[in-house]
Amino acid sequence: MKRLQDKATIITGGSSGIGAATAQLFASEGAQVYLCDIQDEKGNLVCEEIIKEGGKATYLHLDVSSENEWTKTLTKVVDLNGRVDVLVNNAGIGGGLNNIEDYSVDQWDKTMAVNATGVFLGTKCVATVMRKTGGGSIINISSVYGLVGVNRGASYSASKGAVRIFTKAASVQYSADNIRVNSVHPGFIDTPQAATLLRNKEVRDHLIDLTPVGRIGTVDDVKYGILYLASDESAYMTGSEFVIDGGITAR
Ligand code: NAP
Repeated sequence: MKRLQDKATIITGGSSGIGAATAQLFASEGAQVYLCDIQDEKGNLVCEEIIKEGGKATYLHLDVSSENEWTKTLTKVVDLNGRVDVLVNNAGIGGGLNNIEDYSVDQWDKTMAVNATGVFLGTKCVATVMRKTGGGSIINISSVYGLVGVNRGASYSASKGAVRIFTKAASVQYSADNIRVNSVHPGFIDTPQAATLLRNKEVRDHLIDLTPVGRIGTVDDVKYGILYLASDESAYMTGSEFVIDGGITAR
């Protein structure tokens, strides 16, 4: 028996990085993957690869900051599958490296809209379906910077801190509906989102110095943690913070 056999799973931000790797792993574990993103071409390519490997995947365009788009996406998934067992709220943006006084309100609002409101909307819409079909697992991708502050990244840190505490509030409310809600807190992971930072040798070396295990993380380091939270193996976990950071926040 595969770990996600026949589970209907929605993964946002699935066209790239952690989301794409998670989609491939979920499909290899028997899940039906609904891969959602604003990067349509890349998302369709990820789905084609999954299908070539014998998995089940469908691409759906979704801007996570739009409630209207969430409603349309959910209608399609329920028409196709009748249920949603797992939601990975993974879509996110960096938000820019600024001192606080240099953030414009527009920049701040955009980061909060994708990283925080996107998680709220996904949870709100999908939990409504999960409640009717007996429950499920919601996994919200936060960051180490949802646990501790970062210099020149306050909007990102604030949005990821919101994801952390929203997750706990949602877990308390939805436990009665058999819906588990957990957050994941990756450290520095080599993905397209982090590429600009990691290409700079000085910055890369600094980030490695901050990481006790002495290397930058990979999408593989994170995807198995997400798989565990999605599977029934984590049935007693809800409201928790799953930290996958090479020891950054252990200092
Ligand atoms: P990534 O490679 O940039 O993938 C994120 C995907 O989400 C991209 O395809 C992106 O499209 C998409 N996206 C952006 N805004 C969206 C929206 N409004 N609606 C739907 N999709 C949208 O990033 P990643 O590094 O894998 O990050 C995945 C998650 O992990 C994010 O929440 C991120 O904050 C978190 N995280 C990453 C790291 C790291 O070091 N990489 C560390 C901690 C936490 P565009 O390319 O157009 O933006």
